[in-house]
Amino acid sequence: MFTERIYNFSAGPSILPVPVLEQAAAELLNFGGTGTSVMEMSHRSKDFLAIFEETKALLKEVLGIPETHEPLFLQGGAWTQFAMIPLNLIGTTGKADYAVTGSFSNLAMKEAKKYGDIHVAATTADKNHTYIPKQSDLDLRPDAAYFHYCDNNTIFGTAWDYIPETGNVPLVCDMSSNILSKPIDVSKFGLIYAGAQKNMAPSGLTVVIIDKSLAGNELPITPTMLSYQTMIDKDSMHNTPSTYNIYILGLVLKWIKSQGGLVGMEKQNIEKAKVLYDYLDESALFKAAAVPAARSIMNVTFVTGNEDLDAAFAKEAAAKGMINLKGHRSVGGMRASMYNAMPKAGIDALVAFMKEFEARNK
Ligand code: PMP
Repeated sequence: MFTERIYNFSAGPSILPVPVLEQAAAELLNFGGTGTSVMEMSHRSKDFLAIFEETKALLKEVLGIPETHEPLFLQGGAWTQFAMIPLNLIGTTGKADYAVTGSFSNLAMKEAKKYGDIHVAATTADKNHTYIPKQSDLDLRPDAAYFHYCDNNTIFGTAWDYIPETGNVPLVCDMSSNILSKPIDVSKFGLIYAGAQKNMAPSGLTVVIIDKSLAGNELPITPTMLSYQTMIDKDSMHNTPSTYNIYILGLVLKWIKSQGGLVGMEKQNIEKAKVLYDYLDESALFKAAAVPAARSIMNVTFVTGNEDLDAAFAKEAAAKGMINLKGHRSVGGMRASMYNAMPKAGIDALVAFMKEFEARNK
């Protein structure tokens, strides 16, 4: 039993900023003098449409989304995008290239195979996805309808440290676990997608940012609900959107602005990650799983090399109020997910506990 909030290192759904939760709580029963909860509002109501427009404008402002691109507020998680992307985009040439740098990019690639000619442009499976391919390692086809990659590999704790160069082939990127963690040049991407449940909002909302010129070429079998053009035309409201999560995303975006926007967010995220990686590099017990050049600042994976010790570590940390540190079964060991909302004090507490654990288990 904990009477205070604890440090939750969950990979997702994960922590939200405390001021956001406080504001949501304060407005839960009566939003802005409307006498109702946001949860109870019609998505077509004036009050909700004002929330929707504000969230959309904030997302455009915070991410710097150009006029060529449209943010969409969808459902079905990143997994639905694994199918929606090929259904909508592969039709132009029937071909698409995928980089496989972890579990989710592999699953995205397999799902896309149902809809066209899919080529693996690079894979890091040979070293259990501990690294990221170099630009020169990408075997790209000039007639691919798009190139898909996952910018931050949640399970393996790796991240691309560059935006791939693909010539005229549109870039499609899964940013589920690092969207809003750093500034990005949206204009370089044909499509960006992310499930909300890490840096944006509770699960149930999926954000897609699409270059509008790519929409409208969907395969004839594409379900109406899975057409980007439908959702662009209907401003994400072909059916009832995930209203409460859109409201929470608006609060999160205001909080990000209060932290100095994405420049401020990235600075904090780098500082937090450095504390943990610096310790991992000097520790005789713990070792970072990812190679230095590919290290994620969102999900830090590490091992002791002894499964019993790994299990004991996660268990003892949980008892001290640092939960969800057990690594994914495909990597083993530990994983500390430290999204935007994780305070630096959480990393300091984790490293202090790791030092104490190491001293006891020499
Ligand atoms: N891509 C990445 C990078 C993820 O981390 C996840 C989930 N953690 C997914 C895709 C799948 O997301 P969802 O559960 O929203 O379908």
